[in-house]
Amino acid sequence: MSHELIVQKYGGSSVANLERIQAVAKRIVATKTAKNNIVVVVSALGDTTDELEAMALKLNEDPPDREMDMLMSTGEQISCALMAIAIKALGYDAISFTGAQVGIKTDRSHTKARIRTIEGKRTKKALAEGKIVIIAGYQGVTHNNDITTLGRGGSDLTAVALAKALNADVCEIYTDVAGIYTTDPRIVKEAKKLKTITFDEMLEMASLGAQVMQARSIEVAKRFNIPIHVRSSFSKEEGTMIVKDDDKLEDISVRGITCNKSEAKITICQVPDQPGVAAKIFTEISKIGVSVDTIVQNVSHTRHTDISFTVPKVDLTKAFATAKKIAQKIKAGEVLEDRNIARISIIGSGMRSHTGIAAKMFQTLAENKVNIEMITTSEISISCIINQDLSDKAVKALHKEFNLESV
Ligand code: ASP
Ligand code: MG
Repeated sequence: MSHELIVQKYGGSSVANLERIQAVAKRIVATKTAKNNIVVVVSALGDTTDELEAMALKLNEDPPDREMDMLMSTGEQISCALMAIAIKALGYDAISFTGAQVGIKTDRSHTKARIRTIEGKRTKKALAEGKIVIIAGYQGVTHNNDITTLGRGGSDLTAVALAKALNADVCEIYTDVAGIYTTDPRIVKEAKKLKTITFDEMLEMASLGAQVMQARSIEVAKRFNIPIHVRSSFSKEEGTMIVKDDDKLEDISVRGITCNKSEAKITICQVPDQPGVAAKIFTEISKIGVSVDTIVQNVSHTRHTDISFTVPKVDLTKAFATAKKIAQKIKAGEVLEDRNIARISIIGSGMRSHTGIAAKMFQTLAENKVNIEMITTSEISISCIINQDLSDKAVKALHKEFNLESV
């Protein structure tokens, strides 16, 4: 008899306390039949990972990465053990494993390790014995047996990589929202849950600020074409399928809108317009480990030009200090900072074949008296940097204009 294999992942809020762990355990055993096997990946309880990190930072401003992985990986070890214990209490057989125990081998880049291989033997053996297998998310082990973690939100990656390694039939990501929405329902109450979304669109949404799934996990899902069902752990309702293509691709130009308030803008005024200047600025910024996103350089009329760029808000202080130093060195003018910005993005694979989408976006913003400070585009997205105070209004107007209320 060939078994169907289901990989399910439960996020931190789905296992935040003992009641929720019990509820999830019931849900898992309800899915378990004689005909299927279940592998469950769990995140740490609630905000455990944040709390562990905060403790370390109280002891040491710059804690060593290896020790952080030892620490941060323990959250998932607790939740997988508790889940197995809860399932056993319901009379079903279960066994919990850490990433190391099921042979999730990674490289040595602590705190953001990449999975190299997954040894499936131990998992398969436990499944063949009829056990429900519970695996700690977010972690692996190096060839030297040092524990590593896969970057924040990494349990999603564990689930997708296991689905690939074990050749699963279904990969379900359980979370505290009902699926992927056209935009943040907290901003637009008419936001609609999408039935499907493509890997490319989801990747773009994740990197532009939608926080439902870890971007790296989508990359892996895309590479190996593993469809993912994102759904709520609190209801039986179907969620959103993330797939390669869907039949609606031709008539939907915009699938979703994101709003990201995590960036800040730096402007270096009066930069001498000479070869090598931009290289100098961005080499120095990258040396301090800050990643720059949007860059805009104005046209120069006077052999001087303004250069603006965005950085993560958390890095603003050090990036601003560095920008000031460079400005002096290259004899530029003053340096300005602006924390009050938001990136509004519209995303849709249909943009590849539709024209006029950008014009419609800019027109809508103009009609709502929203000034555009910077613009960037990718093949399937358009982003505008605007004043943060106007971002909710802008998202609402765009949601309406692109008819996302009626998808
Ligand atoms: N617990 C880890 C985090 O909060 C991993 C995860 O939840 O996926 O980032
Ligand atoms: Mg988490």
